[in-house]
Amino acid sequence: ASGYTLLRDPHHNKGLAFTEKERDSHYLRGLLPPAIISQQQQEKKLMQNLRSYDVPLHRYMAMMELQERNERLFYKLLIDNVEELLPVVYTPTVGEACQKYGSIFRRPQGLYISLKEKGKILEVLKNWPEKNIQVIVVTDGERILGLGDLGCQGMGIPVGKLALYTALGGVRPSACLPITIDVGTNNQSLLDNEFYIGLKQRRATGKEYADLLEEFMTAVKQNYGEKVLVQFEDFANHNAFELLSRYSTTHLVFNDDIQGTASVVLSGIVSSLKLIGGTLADHTFLFLGAGEAGTGIAELIALEMSKQTKIPLEETRKKIWLVDSKGLIVSHRKESLQHFKKPWAHEHEPCTTLIDAVKAIKPTVLIGTSGQGKTFTKEVVEAMASFNKKPLIMALSNPTSQAECTAEEAYTWSEGRAVFASGSPFDPVKYNDKLYIPGQANNAYIFPGLGLGLVMSGAIRMHDEMLLAASEALACQVTQEHYDKGMTFPPFSNIRTISANIAAKVAAKVYDLGLATRLPRPDDLVKFAEGCMYSPNYRIYR
Ligand code: NAP
Ligand code: MN
Repeated sequence: ASGYTLLRDPHHNKGLAFTEKERDSHYLRGLLPPAIISQQQQEKKLMQNLRSYDVPLHRYMAMMELQERNERLFYKLLIDNVEELLPVVYTPTVGEACQKYGSIFRRPQGLYISLKEKGKILEVLKNWPEKNIQVIVVTDGERILGLGDLGCQGMGIPVGKLALYTALGGVRPSACLPITIDVGTNNQSLLDNEFYIGLKQRRATGKEYADLLEEFMTAVKQNYGEKVLVQFEDFANHNAFELLSRYSTTHLVFNDDIQGTASVVLSGIVSSLKLIGGTLADHTFLFLGAGEAGTGIAELIALEMSKQTKIPLEETRKKIWLVDSKGLIVSHRKESLQHFKKPWAHEHEPCTTLIDAVKAIKPTVLIGTSGQGKTFTKEVVEAMASFNKKPLIMALSNPTSQAECTAEEAYTWSEGRAVFASGSPFDPVKYNDKLYIPGQANNAYIFPGLGLGLVMSGAIRMHDEMLLAASEALACQVTQEHYDKGMTFPPFSNIRTISANIAAKVAAKVYDLGLATRLPRPDDLVKFAEGCMYSPNYRIYR
């Protein structure tokens, strides 16, 4: 291979970090200016550059450009500056990038599979240059973050999520494949835009949609085998639940919006018990929002409660109540309920507003997953504080503007008694001279480690027990020192260690359930996980 090609190969390019020896042996003389710069220096310079951009989208574009130019340096930056760069390559900046994906689109970063490729999906998969794929993140663009239907422009999401699989979970970049399925869009402004990069038609539904997904899932298994993890991301809830249940018995599938959320939030609740007291079964839960996040979390709480107490799931579910856009979900509404809400339709008088439901149910834990900002009003929080010594309040809706209440509101309105966590980050709050540190229930705590655990054990199916294992592994990382500060999640800066621990506990579960294909089982799974993790440091070329 020529030196010129080497410099243009993002997997191997090191830019000015090539040594004298490498420049001689790899035909690079004259193709680079004479200076030799270490990876650390490159990192320092790039971080300075990034920080000089005022516009977040420019940071995003600089990062994507780096990923296409020098992959190891991209991951080195992301890993070493994770708290600063996570919001750049993922939410919130990735959202803006998706909205503008048409105009910033340069080179393919993943596979596009549209209705035009019907009947040829296996061939499309073969066009991707990497053959050993371990994780696929796929979206159909219908519900991108909280931004709605972005059609084909949703590609930023699988690209960003997989960057996190590598940076936070250590899955090799070449083993990651981002895919966008384009069945059209119902977003009129995209349909009207002459530069829209996707199919200009309204979304296919019903059989046409199901058939394309069936062909896709079959082709994936045929091409990559049974061990490939398919993560469904940002599908609208009517398809998300359906796809997950349809393919969970034949493929290794995972939905982060439903299952990853459930696992991270359960972890936050379990840790919070150290601060609010009682066991899981001692608490009563009320949700505002009964979609992917709400019902996903509710189900995992009920499952864990049932495991701990040996009380049947049907009974533990009765400790959990959900409010949707029509009010409290109760049994007399059963007929018109979507199937994923039915397990939560308990016997009760109707309540149309959240405050009425709070007063009637008297929950000890209040969780917001409605996407509607400012819905945990002063009245709601005060009610929670009136019958709970320490109410647990989780305002999970994203982005920040959609949070059900702010950290400051939760602490102030409860006179400093609430334990608070949110979906989007909030700064610590000073109230009555005491510093309160809110928790952030970020899915990025869970899915990278969970994915690594599945991949390293060669899992062929996903199981709720693995979500519980991930949840427990995360909660175990919160130390007494953290609890003393009121924290319910460990510091995110330790994410690689956290991920290795989650991976080990998940893999252990995979082996216990007989779903592992990587045999024999390693003795020390934490060590094994750490050993599997991708390192972004440069290699020496001989
Ligand atoms: P989804 O599937 O569309 O569900 C939204 C739910 O909210 C639906 O049940 C909907 O009711 C209900 N709702 C909407 N407006 C409401 C209102 N005014 N009053 C009461 N209920 C209302 O969405 P999702 O995927 O679950 O996501 C929901 C939110 O959770 C988003 O903001 C997302 O950012 C957040 N989230 C956070 C995390 C995290 O913190 N780690 C993870 C995932 C999601 P109907 O069913 O009646 O339409
Ligand atoms: Mn998502």
